[in-house]
Amino acid sequence: MRIDLHTHSTASDGTQSPGDVVRAAAAAGLDVVALTDHDTTAGWAQAADAARQAGIGFVPGLELSCRVDGISVHLLAYLADPEHPGLRAELAATRGDRVHRARRMVDLIAADLPLTWDDVLAQLPPGATVGRPHLADALVARGHVATRDEAFASILRTGSRYHVGHRAPEARHAIATVRAAGGVPVMAHPLAARRGRVVSDAAIARLAHAGLAALEADHPDHLPAEREHLRGLAGELGLLVTGASDYHGTGRPHRLGENLTPAATWEQLAAQARPAS
Ligand code: AMP
Ligand code: ZN
Ligand code: FE
Ligand code: FE
Repeated sequence: MRIDLHTHSTASDGTQSPGDVVRAAAAAGLDVVALTDHDTTAGWAQAADAARQAGIGFVPGLELSCRVDGISVHLLAYLADPEHPGLRAELAATRGDRVHRARRMVDLIAADLPLTWDDVLAQLPPGATVGRPHLADALVARGHVATRDEAFASILRTGSRYHVGHRAPEARHAIATVRAAGGVPVMAHPLAARRGRVVSDAAIARLAHAGLAALEADHPDHLPAEREHLRGLAGELGLLVTGASDYHGTGRPHRLGENLTPAATWEQLAAQARPAS
C-alpha cells in the first residue's frame, strides 16, 4: 500500500485543482491520498469524487495553522467533521485574518516595490485560503523575483521587514478542537527549520499529552538525523510516525509519494476517528 497523507490543491496554495491532485496521485501509483489544504475543507468534495473515479482511497484532511509559545506550528487533521461548529469557527477566523495579513504585507511591500492587492487576487484561485505563496506568485508576475522559492528566501521570509504574522489558535486548543470534531491530529513537519523557528521536544511532549496522535517524521524538509530523532521521540511519547510528500503541484519541488505512511500506521490513526461530539 502506498499512502501519502499530506497534499495541497488550489483550495489553498497548491497549483492543481483537488481533482487533479487526486488524479496525479493515482498516476503516481498511490493507493491512498489525503488532501490537507491550509485551514479549509473546500477541496474535499471534488477530491472525493475524483478518487472514486480513479479507484483510489481518499482521506479528507486539513493543515491547521497553529502556534506554540509564539512559534508557528502546523497541525494535520484527518477525518474530522467539517460541520463541527468549533472547528468551522476556528477555520473561518484564521482564513479571515489571513486576508487581512496578506493585505498588510502587500501594503508594506508596496512602499518599496510596485505591487497591488489586485496583483495578488489575479493569482488567487476562487475561494482559496490566501497565503504567502500567492504573494510570491504576484511578485513573480511583476518580475520582482523569478520563483516562489526566491520570494520565500527574500521578501516573504519569516523575519523579513515585510513579514506579518496571522491569527492562529494555540496548538493545544486546536488539538482539542480536532478531537471534538472526531478527527485525528498529527503534527506536521515538527523540525522543518527552513520554515523558521521550531518547537522543543518538551513542547512536543505537552502536545502529546494534549491528545496528539502522531508526528510527521518523514517529510521532505527533514534531514535523516531529524527523522531519526522524531522516531525516538515518538517512541518515548507513545505517538505514531507518519510520512508524506507535502505536495504543492509545481509550487514546491516535492513529489507525490516521495514519503509514505505504512498501512498499519494509517489503520491505527483511522481507528482513532470518532463521531463528532
Ligand atoms: P503562510 O502560511 O501564508 O505563512 O505561508 C507558508 C506556506 O508557504 C507553507 O505552508 C508552505 O506550504 C509554503 N512555502 C513555504 N516555503 C516555501 C517555498 N520556499 N516555496 C514555496 N512555498 C513555500
Ligand atoms: Zn502550503
Ligand atoms: Fe506545513
Ligand atoms: Fe503542507
